[in-house]
Amino acid sequence: MELPTKVLIGDGVLSKLGEFVEESAGPRKIVIASGSNVQSKVKEAVDSAIGPKGVWVEVAAADMENVDRVMRRSSGASCIIGVGGGKSVDVGKLAAFKRHLPFYSVPTSASHDGIASPFASLKGLDRPYSIMAKPPVGILADIEVIASAPRRLLASGCGDLVSKLTAVKDWQLAHKVTGEYYGSYSASLALMSAHVVLDGSKRIGKFGRESVRDLVEALISTGVAAGIAGSSRPCSGSEHLFSHYLDLMAPDKGLHGEKCGIGTIMMAKLHRLDWREVRAALRNVGAPVTAGEIGVDDSEVTESLVKASSIRPDRYTILSKLKLDKKGSMDLARTTGVI
Ligand SMILES: [Zn+2]
Repeated sequence: MELPTKVLIGDGVLSKLGEFVEESAGPRKIVIASGSNVQSKVKEAVDSAIGPKGVWVEVAAADMENVDRVMRRSSGASCIIGVGGGKSVDVGKLAAFKRHLPFYSVPTSASHDGIASPFASLKGLDRPYSIMAKPPVGILADIEVIASAPRRLLASGCGDLVSKLTAVKDWQLAHKVTGEYYGSYSASLALMSAHVVLDGSKRIGKFGRESVRDLVEALISTGVAAGIAGSSRPCSGSEHLFSHYLDLMAPDKGLHGEKCGIGTIMMAKLHRLDWREVRAALRNVGAPVTAGEIGVDDSEVTESLVKASSIRPDRYTILSKLKLDKKGSMDLARTTGVI
């Protein structure tokens, strides 16, 4: 198991970032990977916390080109900090992993569970799903900053959380059918996070400070669950395969958590779970529940349902078992109101 060793969550904790990374920092420079929008929001606070040792490297996209650039600029650095929503954390995490440097995750929104997980999602690789790196050694989450992120990002984080419901079901199914390792502790941890949204969606959906804190803690817990399992199994099942296939079919439409949330509604029906409860919870937090809401058309949904399991044949899920054809996919998407 590889787990983060330090987590600091609270209002205004960005000002403590210097002390937070101190044990890794020493006298050498600290690389701060961040996108330009985020920089304009938090640069002043980060600079005053880190001091002159901080070297900013702009992350424009979550791809290998940006990972390489962060790696080049990390020569002689003591650690890397990823400050941002998704891409800066992913890019910083992989650059630090390849450079054998400690990585600190400083999320400025809560749109997916990469905040604390050992995985990095990057574009332009030979496969459309995340790759194994190492979990951050520390996570510093300033609730004041995260609560001011656009609601759409926070609602997307809720979508990634509810997806653990079907991810765990798929994992149990795979264990039964293929004998794959199943860890009940990490599965329970992931499920607990899903229930933060499923059971408290009306409160969470207001995105007040307290509910944002619950959301962030739940997302961190799912990353920890993946660290305990040593795989993304507790966090990613058929609903993620569906989302990854949609990434290929309809690039740049919808956020990761939004697509996973919609996928969870349909996979919940296949698993004979209460898919209406999933849909209601997503609605309550303001996350999309139909393909139209994210600009995806009916045929992109049905093709993704038919082909999703082909992008990762080693991951046995309900889609591998049922092998939906075009008609079956259309029926599923229609009865759940997705199309
Ligand atoms: Zn996810």
